[in-house]
Amino acid sequence: MTSLEEIAGKIELCQKCPLYKTRNKPVPGEGPSDARVMLVGEAPGRNEDLTGRPFVGQAGKFLDQLLGLAGLSREEVFIGNVVKCRPPGNRDPLPMEIEACSPWLDMQFQVISPIVVVTLGRFSMRHFQDRFQLAQDSISKVHGRPTRIDTLVWHGWLVPMYHPAAGLYRGEVKEKIVEDWKKFGQFLSSIKTSQTKTQ
Ligand code: SF4
Repeated sequence: MTSLEEIAGKIELCQKCPLYKTRNKPVPGEGPSDARVMLVGEAPGRNEDLTGRPFVGQAGKFLDQLLGLAGLSREEVFIGNVVKCRPPGNRDPLPMEIEACSPWLDMQFQVISPIVVVTLGRFSMRHFQDRFQLAQDSISKVHGRPTRIDTLVWHGWLVPMYHPAAGLYRGEVKEKIVEDWKKFGQFLSSIKTSQTKTQ
């Protein structure tokens, strides 16, 4: 099977959509290939584009705090995005850019085969709702709520979360995000316990 490193190498050379023309560095994502938890955001921002690393700006610092609330560290999770190159001016990614880029995410997902996918923001949530033919509920309705997925290709949990950037300037959203991640930590403990029990 292809490795995460091989996928990252192909992303470095990718020209499947026009974003390659304006990027400084593509951001394939990072984390161990045996990660239990995979986090998927939207697209790189300015700091990510300059460094080639995901979630390294203010939203990334907040994400590190949120991971801590859930009892996780950055080193043990995989963090990536639906779109690997920065849309100019941090605009929303276009449908054709998402369509062109999402096969890379699908390949990473196949390699990692995580127990839990946490989507960060609505673009990532939509991608997985489409992939697993789930209802197109809005993030304000389903944030923080784990959904069990059992298909021929994957058995796991999908947990839609607000994008950390949404909490940076809006206090009421920040409170919801913090609460969701605390509950997520309890959820992770509960599925660890149930897995231990059945082994
Ligand atoms: S955004 Fe994705 S599809 Fe477009 S050039 Fe970058 S890696 Fe390729």
